[in-house]
Amino acid sequence: MSKSSSHDVIISGGGTPGLTLALLLAQTGLRSVVIDPAPLSQFTISSPEGRTSALMQSSIAVLKQTGVWDMTLPYGAPLEILRIIDDSFGNKTQQIETNFPACNIGLDFFGINMPNNILRSALAIAARQHKATTLCGSSRLTGFSTDDFGVTVNLDDGTSLRAPLLIAADGRESPVREKSGIACWHHDYGQSAITCLIHHSSSHQNISTEFHRPGGPFTLVPLPGNTSSVVWVEKTADADTFMALSRHNFTQALQDRTDSRLGRITLSSDPQSCPLIALRARNFTARRVALVAEAAHVLSPLGAQGLNLSLRDVDCLAKIIIKAAQTGMDIGAQSILATYEKQRRSDIWVRSISTDGLTRLVSHNHRPLHGLRRTGLKTISMIEPLKVMAMQQGMAV
Ligand SMILES: Cc1cc2nc3c(=O)[nH]c(=O)nc-3n(C[C@H](O)[C@H](O)[C@H](O)COP(=O)(O)OP(=O)(O)OC[C@H]3O[C@@H](n4cnc5c(N)ncnc54)[C@H](O)[C@@H]3O)c2cc1C
Repeated sequence: MSKSSSHDVIISGGGTPGLTLALLLAQTGLRSVVIDPAPLSQFTISSPEGRTSALMQSSIAVLKQTGVWDMTLPYGAPLEILRIIDDSFGNKTQQIETNFPACNIGLDFFGINMPNNILRSALAIAARQHKATTLCGSSRLTGFSTDDFGVTVNLDDGTSLRAPLLIAADGRESPVREKSGIACWHHDYGQSAITCLIHHSSSHQNISTEFHRPGGPFTLVPLPGNTSSVVWVEKTADADTFMALSRHNFTQALQDRTDSRLGRITLSSDPQSCPLIALRARNFTARRVALVAEAAHVLSPLGAQGLNLSLRDVDCLAKIIIKAAQTGMDIGAQSILATYEKQRRSDIWVRSISTDGLTRLVSHNHRPLHGLRRTGLKTISMIEPLKVMAMQQGMAV
């Protein structure tokens, strides 16, 4: 591809947010090119692996617009009840347990838990089939320069691309954010999340179960049939120790962590571990550049907000770009980027600050915080309007 290639937007990063954005723009004929080191054009739908994401109703609505939702739905499971168990003492008799049923706030389910690889593959296949999207897989952005009329992006194979706007959907270490000189607030929780898929002998009954333990939360999230995904947070040194166990010993440790609530478990994917950080870019735009998803914000997995927030970025930016294009405006103009920055600021700040606060609250074992956590959960479990309010807050967009 040469510099003369003409695209309306260049998207650096072909994860779920980047591909979703390309497909939303393609609905109105806007042409985008998606760059990613992964071989995007070769993606096929195989079996679920590794991590999953709990997608809330607002994200499902966005994904339905891309046309891939029906293809992925058989791989997801509804989350009808959220069960929170305070297990600070590691002793069943001292556990405090509360159920939050979606039906209490008039919903059939809070969201759908979906394997990340299935969703991303479905999006890549749809993007490959759309004439307005070009997939530039097996390549990475190495640099870019901007001028009054557009942005020129350089790829590692020596080619360059040109468009009025560059969108960074290239993850927590976003090269576009870094090269734009956008500063970030950053926090390392000193914890890691071990993730894997499991098969179990008892039904999960579409209940997502979250244990709060001294090392961090341990969550079992339903998938179709007798399968679930696991997000197991521990201090990083402890997580490394668990990751080093043999498959047999790791499964046994996992079995203990589940409190045998799902019967006998077997591992159905290799465990992976990911350090937990929080990050928030000071600005979400620069000259002819817009940041979305983890390039703009990284949240801890607690509350399952990260991808949901990312899809709201993408939905908002797509609407702004489409409106600008339809009125004949320059889609990379400063006024367009300022609108995006303004519209996303409060949602990103509120989610980022509240998720950070919640993560610190459930991860610390200082007595006052510990007591506050248990009292809070007990109070919420006893006072129904409080419980309803907590659920509505969690679902609020
Ligand atoms: C354990 C865990 C559980 C989670 N569970 C949930 C959940 O239940 N619900 C939820 O909403 N969120 C959840 N999240 C958050 C969610 O996974 C992330 O928000 C989401 O994956 C971020 O997507 P992204 O595209 O920004 O980043 P990524 O998925 O990291 O994608 C970035 C892409 O950019 C590409 N890239 C990197 N460098 C370059 C370059 N130089 N040029 C071009 N491309 C490049 C990468 O290859 C990658 O494909 C969870 C996160 C974790 C860690």
